[in-house]
Amino acid sequence: NQPLCDCNTCYAGPNCSLFLSNCSAHAESGDPYFLEPFWMGRAESSGILVSGWHRMGYNFMNDGSLISEMLVKYINKLHHVVGNAIISKNGSFIVFGCGSTQLLNAAVYAFSPNSSMDSPAKVVTSAPYYPIYRTQMQLFNSRDYRYEGDTSLWKNNSFSQMNTTFIEFVTSPNNPDGKLNKAILNGSNVKTIHDFAYFWPHFTAIPSPADEDLMIFTISKLTGHAGTRFGWAIIKDKGVYERMSSYLSLNTMGVSRDAQLRALKLLGVVLEGDGTQLFKFAYSTMKNRWTKLKEIFSNSKRFSLQKLSPEYCTFFKTSRDPTPAYAWVKCEREEDRNCYEILKAAKIEGREGSLYSAEDRYVRLSLIKTQDDFDILINYLTKLVHQE
Ligand code: PMP
Repeated sequence: NQPLCDCNTCYAGPNCSLFLSNCSAHAESGDPYFLEPFWMGRAESSGILVSGWHRMGYNFMNDGSLISEMLVKYINKLHHVVGNAIISKNGSFIVFGCGSTQLLNAAVYAFSPNSSMDSPAKVVTSAPYYPIYRTQMQLFNSRDYRYEGDTSLWKNNSFSQMNTTFIEFVTSPNNPDGKLNKAILNGSNVKTIHDFAYFWPHFTAIPSPADEDLMIFTISKLTGHAGTRFGWAIIKDKGVYERMSSYLSLNTMGVSRDAQLRALKLLGVVLEGDGTQLFKFAYSTMKNRWTKLKEIFSNSKRFSLQKLSPEYCTFFKTSRDPTPAYAWVKCEREEDRNCYEILKAAKIEGREGSLYSAEDRYVRLSLIKTQDDFDILINYLTKLVHQE
């Protein structure tokens, strides 16, 4: 009775067709398995085989850098095809990180004052926000920067007169609510880190190419290979580039060669033909999911979804609804203050709003897992809404 393949945790039996009735819908994690079928259809062309003797040494390249020139070329081509970021031939620098997670802290380090005479940089972001910004700061507990909470606390403040550096994280589209956020603070003492993990046609219209001072991308949500741990940053200022490079070199001595090789292979497949196949597949999958979800919530007064407006997309050359990676669900009834518990009782596991520094009236549900995961989620949500 052993299954022929790995069943979803909710199924058992030789062909995974037996639904386990006590099973919950797991919509917590951001694992992007929705892209698995794309790669299954390209199993051979996307595979790599690395012999034991190959590239054994530390990953310094001929020019002394730690990054593959070929991979830089692919990244340039990718942004050119998608039109989501401007990389200037003479004016931009690229660094690689172990996922974008490593680059987030490298960027904070690079923007912070490096003299004990200066007061620590104040790091801020707008709620609801991805919690790692805060938890990383707290873990590293540096003398050079401090996490200072929500950006809005400083908006009307005379921060521009303060002799302190502000570092603002801008996540666009935002995790958890999918909004195309923009920077709130500006001034000569404000540095901005743009986290573009989700700025791909899978999840949002691309209104125009981003041209920010420091932009961070990752293959995790682009190709779905979160476990490869590969991200990159596009940087305008040479000094910032040098400080980030020094951080990356001292922290991990660059990104694993094996990860770079896999990223190269995957991006090569993404760029095949006119380079649009992955994006068409990802968008159509996410669009189907969002349409189904909206339909269910349109029958509910008790629960609502985030409101996102359509925008013109320069990639698809048409106006389109956003297709967010996560549903940001709100429990509307006064007594449903703990939305997470309400959904959990209906066998729907999400993540509490408070994890994102929002009220627990909100819950994040992942829409980027496997089709089975999504179908189970839809099934339980439909039942819950029918009970109203
Ligand atoms: N930024 C945001 C907004 C994210 O949601 C994530 C992953 N969930 C990351 C960065 C980190 O991605 P990775 O380290 O896998 O590149």
